[in-house]
Amino acid sequence: MGLRINLFFAATLAGAAVLAAPTRIAAAEPAGQITILYDAFGTDAAMKKDWGFSALVEISGKRILFDTGNDADIFAANIKAKHIDLTSIDFVVLSHRHSDHMAGLNHVLSVNPTVKIYAPKEGFGIYGSSLPSSFYRKDESLPPEMRYYDGKPPEVMKFGTAWQRANIEPIDKTTEIAPGITLIALVSDAPGTKELKELSLAVNTADGVVLVVGCAHPGIEKIVEAATAINPRIRLIAGGFHLVVAPDEVIAKAVSALKDTFKVENIAPGHCTGEPTFAALKKAYGDRYLYAGVGTSLPLGPGMGTGGRRGEGPAIEGDDLASYRKLAQREDPFGILKARKLRSGLSHL
Ligand SMILES: [Zn+2]
Ligand SMILES: [Zn+2]
Repeated sequence: MGLRINLFFAATLAGAAVLAAPTRIAAAEPAGQITILYDAFGTDAAMKKDWGFSALVEISGKRILFDTGNDADIFAANIKAKHIDLTSIDFVVLSHRHSDHMAGLNHVLSVNPTVKIYAPKEGFGIYGSSLPSSFYRKDESLPPEMRYYDGKPPEVMKFGTAWQRANIEPIDKTTEIAPGITLIALVSDAPGTKELKELSLAVNTADGVVLVVGCAHPGIEKIVEAATAINPRIRLIAGGFHLVVAPDEVIAKAVSALKDTFKVENIAPGHCTGEPTFAALKKAYGDRYLYAGVGTSLPLGPGMGTGGRRGEGPAIEGDDLASYRKLAQREDPFGILKARKLRSGLSHL
């Protein structure tokens, strides 16, 4: 990794140790950070904005690339802008088969062709799949030349992937892939994405689960419910909640489920969460809403979200969802730029 010195590292590591650090964080490193590499909003001038999602999740001694964005060139530019060494990542998680999450995979493979990639296992899906040959009906009365495989099929039939030489491990069901690191596998039943399988990344820490979601097509509430089976304490959710076209009442229900039912402590929404949902979550979470525009690094240190350190200015007071669009057109609706300026003096310590 590059020397991305931020408040967390500055506070927890001696400056000399940071400068002398090798290219990756030691396994014993207690906390970590999530860096947003791909999204369509943000204030970091070095990053390109585009629809899609990707994040580097550094946690529990692992460096995990979660999704790869919508355009390989933009993804490559953003990786470069953040000085990320793709040869040092431990593995890739592809949340689902939509192109705004996987188009950068070719760039990843051009740099690191053997990296382990976890992806959802779907029948005849682009990440590859397999079925026992018993799945199809046989007819013993046919001559061999009319039968599949001359009547002697392999026990398991493998179906191809768009990245034939890639080291892809298709994930069929919720699986703990490393100690404390679980891929939650759920299936969407929403019209338009019926049967689409999606993986979400749940990392269990001493302070609760850190949950990263791609598009949350199976439903953010269902994903969070699955995560609470690992640990009922949900410390943070980052990523796309797929409420980008949801009406206000659906948004209100989702916000209430996250805050009141599941008691999710901190929230860092991005991608397909939707502008009105950003507004509703900001209002509900105040300084526990962590701004997650492209280029932002969210520290996962012990004080996360408790004192507003990462809160980006005060909650919007007295507004309603209908006024959000007007607000969003203002130069600095959430006080992000102002907060950034205040912090900038500290961020290069
Ligand atoms: Zn999607
Ligand atoms: Zn998406």
